[in-house]
Amino acid sequence: MNEYTQPRIDNRNLSSLPDKTYDVLIVGAGPAGSSCAAYLARHGHRVLLVDRKAFPRDKPCGDCLLPDAQRSLTDLKVLESVSRAGRILENATVYSPSGYSFDVPGTYITCPRERLDTILLDRAIRDGVSFAVADVDELKVEDDTTVAGHDRVTGETVRAPLAVVATGYHASLARASGLLQNSVPYAIARRRYVRSNYRLDRMVLMYGKRIAPGYMWIIPVGPELYNVGCGVINLPHLNTSRLLRRAERFIAEESEHGRELMAHGEPVSPVHGAALRCQLIGLPPVSRGRILAVGEIMGTTFPFTGEGIGKALESGRLAASVIDRAKRRANYRIVSDYSAMVDSQLRPQYRGYIRAQRWLTRPSINDFLAKRIQRSTYLQQEFARFMQQTGDPRRVFALGEIIKSYFK
Ligand SMILES: Cc1cc2nc3c(=O)[nH]c(=O)nc-3n(C[C@H](O)[C@H](O)[C@H](O)COP(=O)(O)OP(=O)(O)OC[C@H]3O[C@@H](n4cnc5c(N)ncnc54)[C@H](O)[C@@H]3O)c2cc1C
Repeated sequence: MNEYTQPRIDNRNLSSLPDKTYDVLIVGAGPAGSSCAAYLARHGHRVLLVDRKAFPRDKPCGDCLLPDAQRSLTDLKVLESVSRAGRILENATVYSPSGYSFDVPGTYITCPRERLDTILLDRAIRDGVSFAVADVDELKVEDDTTVAGHDRVTGETVRAPLAVVATGYHASLARASGLLQNSVPYAIARRRYVRSNYRLDRMVLMYGKRIAPGYMWIIPVGPELYNVGCGVINLPHLNTSRLLRRAERFIAEESEHGRELMAHGEPVSPVHGAALRCQLIGLPPVSRGRILAVGEIMGTTFPFTGEGIGKALESGRLAASVIDRAKRRANYRIVSDYSAMVDSQLRPQYRGYIRAQRWLTRPSINDFLAKRIQRSTYLQQEFARFMQQTGDPRRVFALGEIIKSYFK
């Protein structure tokens, strides 16, 4: 973490851009937008990427990069910088609601989002992307060849034949542009940073009886720096704010690691939260043939783990490949292939996570499974494979597999 130097981003606004017309306009410079922009620029397209925030900017997150995110970061040639800007952990411990625990060895890279997202944006800019700060309040399909993006702050308009919405959990642009189908967030999560000289060299994930259907985490993200947070599924009958407050008290007062962390340190940031859009319930991937969605706004975050960075990066790459093909063949109808690609390449990956979520948010099942995993090397290996994204969650969360574990 010490060797890291934050890249400097030129945060110009739209008025100071020499051009107002591009091949592709991308709104939102999180992992999804930056990845899509970088791939398009590598294919030689003129891309304008805009974000309402100047960079570096913070984003509420657990800051944990699982292997699919690591693979995408390798492909984008930033994994080394990201690793230097954060930490590499080799273990995670999961605690069930009644305190049964088991280890999940693996490679977990953690990096504060302020750093990760700046590295990704810098990568896109170095690949040839133009970046500007703009709060886009509408994307308007003007005719068969143009989408216009309007900046609420400067009043400027930029144009491109295609636009990409990569606004994360922020739904206002999608709603204003008539794109959003389901605007109810799937879960709510929040975190703060704690500086502490308590030594914890692993990720800690916890469930609690009175916090269900929620989960909590303590994640080392730098020397003596920890990301401490919790998340709750957003069900209509639940008071999510109350559950999140309860979870925060649980971490600080009842969990062993949380108590020690606080006894030897103090919070160094306010609590920041955000919604999560999961399970591909969100925007249709392609709208009116000219606007594509990537990342969390179309629900790319996994249920259960809340992992969204890897899928955001992957959806950005998929969208870029379709746009590239469409532009090369001068046939924008090809863009609609993106929906089929999302269905065939992304959607099947969610099934196991949906099942894992159903199982583990029930405290009694969670306890039973944790006890079983504690005792079964077979289930420990399968759980580790699932966290490392080399195995399907349904190899753990299935009755047949549990029965098998008694005989293996
Ligand atoms: C508390 C919490 C913990 C999490 N922990 C993890 C974790 O540990 N690991 C993990 O993989 N995932 C985690 N996630 C999920 C992860 O943060 C998201 O899946 C990921 O950020 C999605 O990336 P994205 O690029 O789609 O959107 P974002 O990262 O949200 O980026 C969207 C960008 O769009 C910009 N924007 C929005 N509206 C406009 C507009 N109108 N005009 C211009 N710009 C706009 C925003 O400023 C932002 O920069 C967590 C989420 C939360 C809330």
